[in-house]
Amino acid sequence: MKEEKAKELCKNGKIKLDMNTDKRIYFTVNSNEPHSVFFDKEKIGWHCDCRYNAIKHKTCSHVLAAKEFWESKMKNKAEKELGRVKYALKELKLTSKENKAQDLLKLINSYAKDAEHFYKKGDLLECFELCSYVFGLLDSAARLGFIDPGKARNHYKIDEK
Ligand SMILES: [Zn+2]
Repeated sequence: MKEEKAKELCKNGKIKLDMNTDKRIYFTVNSNEPHSVFFDKEKIGWHCDCRYNAIKHKTCSHVLAAKEFWESKMKNKAEKELGRVKYALKELKLTSKENKAQDLLKLINSYAKDAEHFYKKGDLLECFELCSYVFGLLDSAARLGFIDPGKARNHYKIDEK
């Protein structure tokens, strides 16, 4: 029942992400009346301002809806980022014979593998963060002239000369 209501809210676009801070993620869930839901990143818990949540101390449909919304959003982001990483790795060419260039590429590949592992495990935030890290390393490698990004060049933060 609650689960169905949550799915319905999610499907009808009734959830809005308000703010994502270091400590909390805030949502507004527009059920019959709007409710404020937040996720506490430190205590790893969801909270809602509705009476059901306050009195029964049980998970309400608003929390379920916000949770589902956040997870699907995170899944999209992680999937997209992982796709970008895989494409970049497929297209790049090592242009330096130096050992440190090869070492860096090895490191990049192993982080990319970890990112995929986290994705499969459903650890989407971890996957997303690792992918961003991999891209940082790729940018450095390209700037140092260790690699040529090839067709994936537009995914890099490097200026054309
Ligand atoms: Zn609630």
